[in-house]
Amino acid sequence: MTDRLTLDDALTAGLRWLYETEQPGDAWMQHHGQQIRVTGNRYLSFTPTGADDLPVITVNVSRSKWTKDPHGYVVTGNPLAPDELPRLADELEQRGFAVRSTWNGFPADTGSVGLVRPAHPSQVAAVNRYRAGCQEHPGRRVFCECDAWHAGFVRAVRPLALIPA
Ligand SMILES: [Zn+2]
Repeated sequence: MTDRLTLDDALTAGLRWLYETEQPGDAWMQHHGQQIRVTGNRYLSFTPTGADDLPVITVNVSRSKWTKDPHGYVVTGNPLAPDELPRLADELEQRGFAVRSTWNGFPADTGSVGLVRPAHPSQVAAVNRYRAGCQEHPGRRVFCECDAWHAGFVRAVRPLALIPA
């Protein structure tokens, strides 16, 4: 596992992956996207096909500290900062990526930004190959455990592979 990146570096790597990286035609990836750990107890997720099949970038608390609110409900004691999701959306806009919508954010431990521009077509195709399931064992769909199914995940290019050592 690599060291944690700054949020800026993780965003750069994730955006390059989403928009400029060609997935091999024989690779597949599950639909929850790829995660990059960042400093400050956070990780970013990059999903090529999120809401409405458009890219979604999510900032998440890595380790939540659960607590109880005055009514006795279990809530996160270390949520995102109030300005954290808006700042992520602003940063994406400044980098030239129009924001479609945002979800969650403070007082939750996760916040998502939906982008207007579709991901690289090969990223979407790789997710669609995952959704189609194992071609050698169609009955097992995405739950297959054979070597051929496993190998497709290994062939997928991941965001951290794009970061120079
Ligand atoms: Zn199989």
